[in-house]
Amino acid sequence: MIIKIPIRINNMDYKKITLKPKKEEALQRFHPWIFSGAIDKRDQGLAEGDIVNVYSSKGDFLATGHYQIGSIEVRVLSFVEREIDRDYWNEKIAVAYDLRKAIGVVADNNNAYRLVHGEGDNLPGLIVDIYADTAVMQSHSVGMHMNRMDICEALKNVLGDTIQNIYYKSETTLPFKANLDSENGYLFGGKDTVNDEAIENGLKFRADWLKGQKTGFFVDQRDNRSLLEKYAKDRSVLNMFCYTGGFSFYAMRGGAKAVHSVDSSGKAIMLTEQNVKLNFGDDPRHKAFAEDAFKYLGNMNRGDYDLIVLDPPAFAKHRGAIKNALQGYKRLNAVAFDKIAKGGIVFTFSCSQVISKDMFRMAVFSAAAMSGRSVKILHQMTQPADHPINIYHPEGEYLKGLVLYVE
Ligand code: SAH
Repeated sequence: MIIKIPIRINNMDYKKITLKPKKEEALQRFHPWIFSGAIDKRDQGLAEGDIVNVYSSKGDFLATGHYQIGSIEVRVLSFVEREIDRDYWNEKIAVAYDLRKAIGVVADNNNAYRLVHGEGDNLPGLIVDIYADTAVMQSHSVGMHMNRMDICEALKNVLGDTIQNIYYKSETTLPFKANLDSENGYLFGGKDTVNDEAIENGLKFRADWLKGQKTGFFVDQRDNRSLLEKYAKDRSVLNMFCYTGGFSFYAMRGGAKAVHSVDSSGKAIMLTEQNVKLNFGDDPRHKAFAEDAFKYLGNMNRGDYDLIVLDPPAFAKHRGAIKNALQGYKRLNAVAFDKIAKGGIVFTFSCSQVISKDMFRMAVFSAAAMSGRSVKILHQMTQPADHPINIYHPEGEYLKGLVLYVE
């Protein structure tokens, strides 16, 4: 991989963007995105990934950020005038790490957590997940991609010896640009195979950042898995959309009678089996099936399960897909309500960012009404503290879930 080290420049040398009159309000409220419609003038020669200074129509400095062609043209890195240099990256990563230490996710029994959650950590376009001694870094903007070596250095500086590998995985998350050199690979360290040293709340798992989805594991369900563990005792659990089996191994530790994991991906099922084995050996309580969710739910009998987890992939990736997505959530939940045993519990989720908490609840309400059963909300779930929501960027709230009691 060719690594381009950005030329270091003083912040006064950054190219300039000027907003249209009265378009500075969102920035003054610290919203980290500048939409193309708000921009009046752009300096000549601006290239994607450049760091730019943004000014109001009156010439006041507003922010410094990464420039990219698209509906979001600037992603803000700083609201005060400063150079985006190595000190900047060190400071930002240190602040993010301090937060993770403060909330207790950096612990002897937990070494898997999200260190950087984009806008939630005031670093729009950057994701970093930690699995034991490996950091998996993902850019969602050209600017973060350009700065990846500075970020890599900052990770090494701040996390020190605890990090032995930094894997860069942005091939599918960056907008396609022919000249980006964005192939996946190690920026530091490197090993041919992933290891089994990742631990979440004392449970072991293999995060396959090389071949798995996203960065290799869904760390965002940690707290919700813990909640499920409390309800698992003596129940027959169906973990639908199990991916690598997170909910399954918590259910087993919680004393479930039986745990069935289902995912349409054969590879996910293999990983689930591997992870269950890592923690419980060949435990006859667990079975895994590679099958389509709707097919499996349609074929099962009423009463087969008294705890069902529904954690589907994002049904809506953009606003245009909301209507169909809501229908999808409704259909899915309606089958679960119809089939679950009396006194059963449903953990149901939506990770679609464009579906609000209220919309999701309405879809689940409609599903309950279709089944005709009495359904009560026991808990409302969200994303964990290592996926913080920047209060000035409410769009960062994406994971919502309900724990329901079905009479
Ligand atoms: N609950 C998981 C994350 C789920 S991600 C965890 O805790 O880690 C969504 C999963 O749904 C993916 O693994 C994907 O393979 C699976 N999936 C997508 N469409 C599906 C379908 N129609 N039937 C079953 N599984 C499906």
